[in-house]
Amino acid sequence: MDVLVIGGGPAGAVIASLLAMAGRDVMVVERDIHPRDHVGESLTPSTNTVFQRIGFLEKMEEAGFVHKPGACWTAPDAPVGKFLEIRLAEFPPPWAIQPYTYNVERDVFDAMLLRHAHELGAKVVQGARVQEVLFDADGRASGARVRVADGWEHDVTARFVVDASGRNCLLGTQLGLKKKDPSFNQFGIYSWFTGLAAPPAGTEGMLFLHFLGLERAWAWQIPLRNGVWSVGVVTDKADFREAGTSNEAFFASLVARNRTFAHVMAGAERIRPFSVEGDYSYVLDRVQGDGWLLIGDSLRFVDPIFSTGVDVAAFSALYGFEAIEAALAGGDEAGELARFETRLSDGVEAWYELIKLFYTLQNLFSSFAVRRRFRERVVRILQGNLYMPETLAQAREVIALMKDAAARVGEDADNLLRPGALRRSS
Ligand SMILES: Cc1cc2nc3c(=O)[nH]c(=O)nc-3n(C[C@H](O)[C@H](O)[C@H](O)COP(=O)(O)OP(=O)(O)OC[C@H]3O[C@@H](n4cnc5c(N)ncnc54)[C@H](O)[C@@H]3O)c2cc1C
Repeated sequence: MDVLVIGGGPAGAVIASLLAMAGRDVMVVERDIHPRDHVGESLTPSTNTVFQRIGFLEKMEEAGFVHKPGACWTAPDAPVGKFLEIRLAEFPPPWAIQPYTYNVERDVFDAMLLRHAHELGAKVVQGARVQEVLFDADGRASGARVRVADGWEHDVTARFVVDASGRNCLLGTQLGLKKKDPSFNQFGIYSWFTGLAAPPAGTEGMLFLHFLGLERAWAWQIPLRNGVWSVGVVTDKADFREAGTSNEAFFASLVARNRTFAHVMAGAERIRPFSVEGDYSYVLDRVQGDGWLLIGDSLRFVDPIFSTGVDVAAFSALYGFEAIEAALAGGDEAGELARFETRLSDGVEAWYELIKLFYTLQNLFSSFAVRRRFRERVVRILQGNLYMPETLAQAREVIALMKDAAARVGEDADNLLRPGALRRSS
């Protein structure tokens, strides 16, 4: 076999699709049996380009996933219904296919995408867990040990192993490469709801982000099909511990911190149990080696405030495919993999810097978005794909400007944009 892919989430399914389209013998081994629930429902516009490349965009449109034209922010003390709006098509990028992206139910979306890879020719084995990646005597990845449901184990050999096992980070953990991010200790709690107040006219399909008057907290409100909303809150773990209360009560206390959020959720009914995720930010020392590479969440996870997870999954799969394809075709494997690592790491690092700035000064970020001088650059970032040289350069420029502004704000004790000025006691 040419390539063994561990995990059939978006990253694994996209790389398997591309490899199958190129005529490669590829197998995806997926632990669960799809459809399976997953967090991460709001996509960036740039993912459209990858889904179009593998012939999947049409299927997304046919499935009737909610069109997402942009995002709105609300501040905790602002009057109900006052929000800041960013339309992603306000400054169309050269690669734009359509003026919107999608919000997707991940159980349906991931199952469709994995099936798509299969229809393109990838072998897909579900309900089978990879136990470990195998290496030959020279230290090159040579395959994996797979355990199927009845406990039977089988060694699969491949010329290349791709780890797309998500936050499970199978290979990164096996090789001791995974490091917890010391700057972020976030905690997410979320569920699906019906009965939310209708969004203001003109914002249908928009993702709403609600600030909560806490430095390290925010909430998402994502419209899905059939009147269902995905609603979740992210806070620093310390805030949750301090509250010392149940998930339900903690969630309600955060909803109450933002007037618009509280108004929208007043008649909401939860239709699923709460899910909780913690300790999810980490980095890996390296993301490729002899005969292997990591894609999607298995290569790094940064806070989801800018809906970047599936963006990283899709583009790391695309660039990973290009590196493997060049190597299998006889190119310089080490050079191709190193280029993959730089491209991905630079892009994800830019997201990370932006997220850190956002958490340092939430108000500052909003103030950039409303200023005409910076608005286009902020929109460009939210459109996704920071791995392209031009987008990366623009993002780095914004990061430098924001860092300068943050330093100035920090020096001025009366500045209302400074950290702490946001914090309310209840
Ligand atoms: C609170 C929160 C909110 C988020 N919101 C968003 C959002 O709005 N938008 C967005 O784009 N992203 C969001 N994300 C991130 C998003 O969930 C992920 O980035 C995305 O799912 C990554 O795709 P992936 O294919 O790398 O991993 P996954 O989707 O996790 O897929 C990995 C697959 O590997 C399988 N697997 C694991 N271990 C093994 C094994 N040993 N053997 C075989 N199979 C295995 C798993 O079963 C799984 O199906 C959010 C994340 C969190 C925590």
